Amino acid sequence: MNLKDKVVIVTGAARGIGEAVALKFTKKEAKVVLVDIDKESIDALVKKLNSMGGDALGIKVDVTKKEAVEGMVEKVVEKFGKIDVIINNAGITSDAKLVKMTEDQFDKVIDVNLKGTYNCAQAVAQVMEAQGYGVILNASSVVGIYGNFGQTNYAATKWGVIGMTKSWAKELGKKGIRVNAVAPGFILTPMTEKMPEKVLDMMKKKAPINRLGLPEDIANAYAFLASDEASFITGTVLSVDGGLVL
Ligand code: NAP
Repeated sequence: MNLKDKVVIVTGAARGIGEAVALKFTKKEAKVVLVDIDKESIDALVKKLNSMGGDALGIKVDVTKKEAVEGMVEKVVEKFGKIDVIINNAGITSDAKLVKMTEDQFDKVIDVNLKGTYNCAQAVAQVMEAQGYGVILNASSVVGIYGNFGQTNYAATKWGVIGMTKSWAKELGKKGIRVNAVAPGFILTPMTEKMPEKVLDMMKKKAPINRLGLPEDIANAYAFLASDEASFITGTVLSVDGGLVL
């Protein structure tokens, strides 16, 4: 997979899957832009990536803020002159059963996972249309496809991400832009650390591969979909879940 010199924006890059994606793409000699609300962590990660020979840039942005996202995209074009790939990875959970979920919990998750993805894709698509090429990759989830106890808000966003992915693939294909989603199973990151061990153990046993996923498993899928080897793949949802839902 050749990703050398590709300019790749990764949102939610400070930890978990986003951090693994930033590392993977840096090892593949891509120029990585790390976007997150946690400035301290992205600064530390940028330092690490650049000490490995990378050409990384960190920008503190809340993806729910349209103007901040547009400013970030301008900065990237100013520094690197193009955008090859965006990985819309930033996402949050705020779990509660349907009857207990507050309006704030519902709105917060919709705002980051759905509107944040839309804000970033919209700003980047304008640059990619003008270039005549680009790849947009979105974070869905096994929970978006099959639902999950206590995750009304999260499931809605991750199913919504699939709808946006397919719509954008149809709209942007003729402009040279591919759009795909990845649907991870249960991956060991700070997000799943909040889940009861009992549930994680159940998920592990349910998967034929018989383990939980690692952030690197998801980074590998993004790397493939970002590469030219995936040039005939668009509008798809790649499940990376150890066979959890077979
Ligand atoms: P994570 O460890 O919680 O990392 C998410 C990152 O996104 C954090 O650094 C977080 O910052 C950042 N973030 C949150 N709100 C943001 C905002 N408004 N603007 C910019 N950055 C923001 O999550 P993860 O487990 O790596 O998950 C990454 C993505 O994969 C998410 O979209 C998630 O839904 C999806 N996914 C994960 C799993 C899994 O099992 N882990 C499974 C399926 C799908 P703070 O920590 O400071 O809030």
